Amino acid sequence: MRREAFEMANKEFLVDVGKCTGCNLCAVSCKDEHFDNSYAHWSAPQPETGQFWVDVKSLERGSLPRVRVSYMPTFCQHCANAPCIPVCPDDAIKKRGDGLVWIDPKACTGCGECGPACPYDVIFFNEDANIAQKCTGCAHRVDEGLLPRCVEACPHEAILFGDEGAFHGEGSEFLKPEHNALPRVMWRELPAPWISGNVINVEQDEVIANARVLVRHQESDERHDALTDEFGDFYVRDLEKGRSYRCEISADGYESVKREVTVSSDLDIGTVVLSRK
Ligand code: SF4
Ligand code: SF4
Ligand code: SF4
Repeated sequence: MRREAFEMANKEFLVDVGKCTGCNLCAVSCKDEHFDNSYAHWSAPQPETGQFWVDVKSLERGSLPRVRVSYMPTFCQHCANAPCIPVCPDDAIKKRGDGLVWIDPKACTGCGECGPACPYDVIFFNEDANIAQKCTGCAHRVDEGLLPRCVEACPHEAILFGDEGAFHGEGSEFLKPEHNALPRVMWRELPAPWISGNVINVEQDEVIANARVLVRHQESDERHDALTDEFGDFYVRDLEKGRSYRCEISADGYESVKREVTVSSDLDIGTVVLSRK
């Protein structure tokens, strides 16, 4: 991509949790880019151990036997209203004209004030160099008209980079909006609660594939559905925390079963037994 494409407009990232497989190539690439390399003015070398400026957090979800893992590659959110900036007594944390936030390694005195101020816990401390460090947004690459290294490395396009507004729209949201930090990293497909379970045929003691699970919010038109897989398991996704739902489980030739549930996190309703009509 050419340099002109990246000049001066505020930049943003998009992280699509639905596409991330947890392969960690982004983290390894970031380490390769920054370990033993300094980039004036933006960063001193990242230590070999103890820091991953992009940390692929794994979030184990559900309960046995229906457990899944979601991955969240997490790095500096390059906040427009960055809480880390005003707490630095040495004015070492700065924002570029394109919105990328960086810690000036020459100005940082290693006081450690910034770490606790960051709502996203993405600032690391380099004890050997006595400085705080974090993702720079690969400012040195952006200045050369290149994509950030983690963006280039991800084989699933789970991390994207572009001009402000490129990733806004339905389904995009920020992490921890309650901090009013106005992050420049948008997220899609953040884990939302699901209802899971398993459907069996009681007479023949076998699972029922392709049974339909319809979930309706009790006070609105919100509806979600899913089919059971070959093992009789189902996951009805993207529900809202704290809401009460009516579930109807049905299959051709069987009496349907109804349940009422309130979702506070991923909820497994266990085995649902259907009987022949
Ligand atoms: S490289 Fe892409 S898919 Fe792999 S962990 Fe990073 S964001 Fe996820
Ligand atoms: S994510 Fe943390 S370190 Fe990055 S700009 Fe925001 S407050 Fe500062
Ligand atoms: S933008 Fe660059 S510094 Fe930031 S996490 Fe990605 S590779 Fe690392």
